[in-house]
Amino acid sequence: MNYEKLDQIVDSKREEILKTMKKWLAVPSVQAPRSAENAPFGKDVRNMLDIALADAKDMGFDVKEFDGYAMHAQMGQGEETMGILCHLDVVPAGDGWTHDPWGAEIQDGKLFARGVVDDKGPAILTLYAMQAVREAGIPLKDGVRLILGCDEETGMSDMRYYAAHSDLPTYGFSPDAEFPVINIEKGGLGLLLGKVTSGDEESAEIPVYELYAGERPNVVPGSAWAKIGVKDWDAFAAKLNQVIEETGFELTLEKIEYGVYRLTAIGVSAHASVPHLGKNAAGMLLIALKKLGAGGASKEAIACLADIIGLEGDGKSLGIKQQDELSGALTCNLGILRYDQKYLSARLDIRYPIMANETEMCGKAVESAAKGGMHVLKASSHGPHHVSADHKVVKGLLKAYTEATGLEGYTIAIGGGTYSRCMPNTVAFGPVFPGDIDPCHIADEYIDIEKMMLSARIIARAIAELAGKNE
Ligand SMILES: [Zn+2]
Repeated sequence: MNYEKLDQIVDSKREEILKTMKKWLAVPSVQAPRSAENAPFGKDVRNMLDIALADAKDMGFDVKEFDGYAMHAQMGQGEETMGILCHLDVVPAGDGWTHDPWGAEIQDGKLFARGVVDDKGPAILTLYAMQAVREAGIPLKDGVRLILGCDEETGMSDMRYYAAHSDLPTYGFSPDAEFPVINIEKGGLGLLLGKVTSGDEESAEIPVYELYAGERPNVVPGSAWAKIGVKDWDAFAAKLNQVIEETGFELTLEKIEYGVYRLTAIGVSAHASVPHLGKNAAGMLLIALKKLGAGGASKEAIACLADIIGLEGDGKSLGIKQQDELSGALTCNLGILRYDQKYLSARLDIRYPIMANETEMCGKAVESAAKGGMHVLKASSHGPHHVSADHKVVKGLLKAYTEATGLEGYTIAIGGGTYSRCMPNTVAFGPVFPGDIDPCHIADEYIDIEKMMLSARIIARAIAELAGKNE
C-alpha cells in the first residue's frame, strides 16, 4: 500500500490536533474519590471522559461509555477488532514545573503538559489517525476501536470493568510506553519474608531497636537506617570503622540519646525492574549490621537477609537466579525493610522471565528464608505478558514503524508492566522513541511536536497495515 497520501492527510491535521491537545490537556484529570454514581474516579476524570466522548462522537465514531470507567470509539466492523488502548487519567503535576502543567504551552517546538505523553496525547493522535485512515478511503477488513480508560495510573480497575462489560478486541497495541514494540513483560511476584521476634534486644551487645528502609516495593531504597544501642563505644567505633573499610559503604552515625544511635546507609535509588542501576541501601545496612554482630532477637534474621539478599539484584543467593533468551534475567529488589522489636520483615519485588516457574521460585525462597527462622508470604503475583514476535500484530507494527521512520524495528522485553497487559494479543507501541528521555510522571512532561506528528503517522500506518484490506 502507498502511504504517502495517508501521511499527507495526517500532516494536514496538525493545527486541529494541537487545538484538541490544548483542550484535553487543560483538564487536571488526576484520580480522586468517587464524586457521583457515574464518576468512580472523581469529577475531573469524569469531565475529561465527557470531553473525549463528545469529540470522538463529533469526529463520526461510534462511541460507548462504561459507567465512568472507560469509553470506546469505533470505526467499522469486521471479523476481527483491532484495539488501541490509551488512558485519560494522569498523575498529579507535582513540583518543579517551569511551564503551566495544564497550559499546553509551546516553546522551541515542544508542547509541555501533564499527560501530553502519558497518555492523553497518544489518545488524541489515535483519534486523528483513525480519521485520516477513513478520509484516505482505505477499506477496512477489521473494526478499529480506540479504548480510553480512566484508571491506568492507580490500579487498572478500568480495564477489569471494561472486560466485564464489553467484548474485547482480538489484537492491538497501546501507545503508552515506547517504540519500537514491547512484546514481553516479565511476570511479577511480591514476597514478604518475615519473622515474629519474641526474644529481647536489650541483652545484645549491639541491640537493634528499629529498622527502616523504603516506602514502595518497586523502588530500590536509596537510604536505610537502624536505631541501635551502643554499650561499649570504643569497641563499637573500632568495629564500625573496620566495616566501612572492608565494604566501602557510605555509613553515617548520629546520636539520638545516651547510648542510642541511628546508623544510616546511603545507596542509590533506582526502579525495581533495573536494580543494577542502583545500590540497595537496605542491603548495605543488613550487611553492615551482620558484620557488626548487631541484634538480639533480630540477629538471626538480619544475618540471614544479609546472606540471602544483601546487595544482589538477581536473586542468586535466594536461589531463584535465572534467565531465558526471550525475556532476559530475573530481577529481585529488596524494596521495604521494617523492624519494631515485634516483627521483622523484608518485602521483595521479583520480576521473572516468561519461562520461570512461580511455584518453584516460592519454594526456593521458603527454603532460604528458613535459615533465618523466617516465613514467606506471597504479597502479590501476576503472570508474564507475552505476544510472540511472529504474531501478525508485532510484524505489522514493526513494518509501520520502520517504513514511517526509517529506523530499525525490533522487539523489547521489559520488567515493568504496561497497559497492554490488560488486553489479549496487545503490545506496547510508542510514543517515546529510542534514545529519547522518558518524560512520563516528571516535571515539564513534553512532546517534540515533529515527533508527535511522526507518531500520528506511524499510528495511522499501523491501523491501515493491520486492519486495512491489503490486496
Ligand atoms: Zn500511562
